[in-house]
Amino acid sequence: MRARVIQLSSQQNPNIRYMQFRNFKMVGYVIYGRGSFNQLDAILAPHRKEGAPMVFLLDHYFQGKPLENRIPLRGNDKLLYADVTHEPKTSQVDALAQQLKDEFGTVSGIVGIGGGSTMDLAKAVSLMMTNPGSSADYQGWDLVKLPGVYKVGIPTLSGTGAEVSRTTVLTGPTRKLGMNSDFTPFDQIVLDPELTKDAPKNQRFYTGMDCYIHCIESLEGTYLNEFSKSYGEKALELCRDVFLEADTWNDECDDKLMMASYAGGMSIAYSQVGVAHAVSYGLSYLLGTKHGIGNCIVFDKLEEYYPAGVAEFKQMVKKGGYEIPKGLCKNLTDEQFDTMINVSLGMKPLWENALGKDWEQIMTRKKLRHLYEQL
Ligand code: NAD
Ligand code: ZN
Repeated sequence: MRARVIQLSSQQNPNIRYMQFRNFKMVGYVIYGRGSFNQLDAILAPHRKEGAPMVFLLDHYFQGKPLENRIPLRGNDKLLYADVTHEPKTSQVDALAQQLKDEFGTVSGIVGIGGGSTMDLAKAVSLMMTNPGSSADYQGWDLVKLPGVYKVGIPTLSGTGAEVSRTTVLTGPTRKLGMNSDFTPFDQIVLDPELTKDAPKNQRFYTGMDCYIHCIESLEGTYLNEFSKSYGEKALELCRDVFLEADTWNDECDDKLMMASYAGGMSIAYSQVGVAHAVSYGLSYLLGTKHGIGNCIVFDKLEEYYPAGVAEFKQMVKKGGYEIPKGLCKNLTDEQFDTMINVSLGMKPLWENALGKDWEQIMTRKKLRHLYEQL
């Protein structure tokens, strides 16, 4: 657990120390179950404001698919497609928020329906409907000052934990960093495993492994406490059920992986991720490598840090016959390696969780360069 030790003043007993515990905000409402998406209209009804539309941000994959026709559009509601060809950018968030402000002034809420990228876009656009400036101004910790508009997250892929987290990961002009704040979590999430049914096998694995890696990094990290451990162990068990035990993929696997994602997200809420995420952020910043697959590419080479987890991961890859790309960093220049190293070493809490307070002595630039060279 990330605990700060506060020393009392000299008039007070110097032997007594107080721990500062993280007091984190969670999602407001949760509905879970196959077909729960059908309750969306009733869920939204009390949040509709006179003249202000509900905005549905739908992952572009679903354009023209049956799910689109199940969206409960009313009055002047707006349906927008989220282009998630690339992971969300601050410029994309700013443009979407501006478009809505220009067209409607204000909106009743934003409903994000899709994978982690669409959910993150929905969270960020909600915040930028009320906070001035650019979303890039809020990349960091607790910089957001005002609550956004009502926001709902509906995952169609399981694994990122974006449905429960207090961040929305954005690539900005100078960095890839989330808007981490108490205003970031969704007011409502709808967990309907039926929506993940048609996810392509490889994508389902990469996003599912994001969850598996969250669990390993949380459980093997120095910030771990019983809260994180309880959720992390359950999520890990569910990942094993679906990626190692199940003979073929079935509805129960979708049910389980959706809960694994939720529990994995809850686990890192009170701890932190670790080496795979810190290294994969560098890859993603420089090469645009996507989060799930980037984590897999890195985790595959992390025997030194997570020996048991990496061995099990390789078993899962083998069982499903998944593809883990190699040779990404083969032709990079020194300058490009330096960029990745700078981005990665900037993720201080991740390294501290993974390697402890003296992490800077352990993860030198040379060692990190060697790691990148293997990817
Ligand atoms: P994604 O949202 O980027 O989507 C990947 C692809 O799958 C896209 O092409 C999308 O159109 C498609 N897709 C989505 N649902 C589908 C379905 N049911 N069937 C078929 N195709 C479908 O993938 P992801 O792995 O869910 O999310 C990754 C994103 O989440 C990254 O942007 C990452 O930064 C972010 N993330 C956020 C957090 C957080 O806490 N906020 C945590 C981890 C990752
Ligand atoms: Zn992740």
